[in-house]
Amino acid sequence: MPEVLKAPLVVEFPFTRSLGPVQSAFLTGLRERVVLGVKTTDGRTLVPPVEYDPVTAEEIRDLVEVAPTGTVTTWAWNHAPRRGQPLDTPFAWVLVRMDGADTALLHALDAPGPDAVHTGMRVRVRWAEERSGAITDIACFEPYDGDPAEPTGHSGEFEAPITGIVAPARLDYTYSPGRAQTAYINALSARRAVGERCPSCRKVYVPPRGACPTCGVATSEQVEVGPRGTVTTFCIVNIKAKNLDIEVPYVYAHIALDGADLAQHGRIGGIPYDQVRMGLRVEPVWTEGARFPDHYRPTGEPDAEYDTYKELL
Ligand SMILES: [Zn+2]
Repeated sequence: MPEVLKAPLVVEFPFTRSLGPVQSAFLTGLRERVVLGVKTTDGRTLVPPVEYDPVTAEEIRDLVEVAPTGTVTTWAWNHAPRRGQPLDTPFAWVLVRMDGADTALLHALDAPGPDAVHTGMRVRVRWAEERSGAITDIACFEPYDGDPAEPTGHSGEFEAPITGIVAPARLDYTYSPGRAQTAYINALSARRAVGERCPSCRKVYVPPRGACPTCGVATSEQVEVGPRGTVTTFCIVNIKAKNLDIEVPYVYAHIALDGADLAQHGRIGGIPYDQVRMGLRVEPVWTEGARFPDHYRPTGEPDAEYDTYKELL
């Protein structure tokens, strides 16, 4: 049996969100070195603030400033910081109840080692030198043995408030596709599409997962399918993806390769986007050195009859 493949896989995207009035004030406050919480109807102060009372579900807007000092309520040592974390040296993740607040805020504490951290220790905000209206405007917390700092009495109203943030999301891991997909990927490098047939229902799965999800039995009989196929359904993409060099609009389609009982997806090219249709016959287009088809283009054959692919939608 050939070696099962594995490779590093990074899934990364910028998550753009708009801020309501409360989060806007909180993050704009950080930009101005002011920590804001919100008062609930029963008089508690929540930091970080939320938009709805966790007890009554009422909308809450009553902003109140708290001190940039506080007390650690619990913590965990991070001995190996990862990319994108607040500090690049080992540090403590801490929950800090700011002076004047009733709830705690998650952040990093810069400390020489776990022996220097304990629940109940006093800390203060270390502000980032450059601040833009983000939680990272608090660079971290640091040990502090003075009295609670005095809030400045800020109203929570700011010039040029932050109204939205872009939070980069990233998942970084090693992916192994398993035995069946390893065979599929290895066949693709020879420009062949190889699936597996279920011994019970006879369906051919491409790409194969190693088992039939309907019958619950392992698949092992390899079946070559394609290279041609039929567009079973499609969508027109009008939003340009970051880092993807494809002009919009373009068509992304489900394509049932000849002999497969499952449609896979691919981009359709070589035809105006508004002429792509269900039943269109297509073939893969490879670029030099690629491990999968760049896109599929019309073969020029007559369209497939609906009855031939209606079970593959
Ligand atoms: Zn089956």
